Amino acid sequence: TIYLDHNSTTPLLPAVAVRLAEAQAENYANPASQHSEGRRARRALEAARERITNLLGGDASCFAADRLIFTSGATEANTLALRGLAGPPGGAVLISAIEHPSVSETADQMLREGYRIERIGVNAHGVVQLDELDRLLAEVPNVRLVSVMLANNETGVIQPVGEVVARCAAAGVPVHTDAVQVVGKLPVGFRALGVAALSFTAHKFHGPRGVGGLLVGASLSLTPLLHGGPQQAGLRPGTEAVDLAIGAQAALEAWYDEAAERAARLAGLQRRFETGLKNRGVPLRVWGSETDRLPHTSCLSFDGFDRQALMMALDLAGIACSTGSACASGSSEPSPTLIAMGLSAEQIRGALRFSWGALTTTAHIDRAVDRICQTINDLRLSSQRT
Ligand code: PLP
Repeated sequence: TIYLDHNSTTPLLPAVAVRLAEAQAENYANPASQHSEGRRARRALEAARERITNLLGGDASCFAADRLIFTSGATEANTLALRGLAGPPGGAVLISAIEHPSVSETADQMLREGYRIERIGVNAHGVVQLDELDRLLAEVPNVRLVSVMLANNETGVIQPVGEVVARCAAAGVPVHTDAVQVVGKLPVGFRALGVAALSFTAHKFHGPRGVGGLLVGASLSLTPLLHGGPQQAGLRPGTEAVDLAIGAQAALEAWYDEAAERAARLAGLQRRFETGLKNRGVPLRVWGSETDRLPHTSCLSFDGFDRQALMMALDLAGIACSTGSACASGSSEPSPTLIAMGLSAEQIRGALRFSWGALTTTAHIDRAVDRICQTINDLRLSSQRT
């Protein structure tokens, strides 16, 4: 199978798998234990925390002390950000209309609990509309938090988070960003962006599943989701997964060591994939292509096709892609992101997402283009016969 579903999850890099296995063997002790084995695990955990914080553009020095809270992944990190920064019910939270369900569903649940939730719309390219943010900041009282993702998981469209921060700073409102699809693909600068909190998850950049984190600015007060032991300053109690944290560190370092080359290679694959399909006369639209986009994502509408049927036919042809509506696949609900962009029902019906990663080669892309063309021709012929 040619795996073109990296926005859902990515395979572990072999070098990361080795570091992970070593960490499991060496750092098995509880990092809260006082004996030397425990202290060794604690040192390894804190080293991973410091290294990841720095690679994300935070400042881990004791003077600045941005705090990285390890979590089980980005769903937990996003939930912690929204619930932990929004204060008690009664306040308002603004989110973009294209957030991942871990943000949008959490916000909807908070609405039922007495928060006011407002959504910031996007334009036809899938970019958050800053004038709508201005309007909401002016009209909605008691805004406690704004959450806008750094890039969308379906279209790959990069959001103007720096602009969002500038506007919110003027209104004294902290900003959270879900950077899941950007971390390990393009450089991310936590301090340079000026966000209050940033979420990531290791399995999207060839690290292990089950670990992610929320990087939070030093001065913010955060309410924990869980209660228990004193781990992670009480903000996320529970025995820390030292081995997974080291695996996340290894995956981020592997990316960092070749960041520029990897980004250029991914962008080359994107060009090759999209022009390959277009040159073969495949009837498609590329969403988000007229604005800044991640280099490893193509969201395409195939005119006249049904995404579910096409995805299954491509699976039989040995291509793994996604209907894009949710990373939790199996869902064939129309995508809120594409709806927010104003696509027609027909365009949404034929929308598929293809995404590649560090191990994808030009040969994979060329074979994928061949198989997609073949599948589309086969489906056309069989629909003409019936
Ligand atoms: N945010 C975005 C943009 C995602 O694409 C995903 C993917 O599933 C998540 C959050 C959730 O991450 P996790 O699976 O680690 O909970």
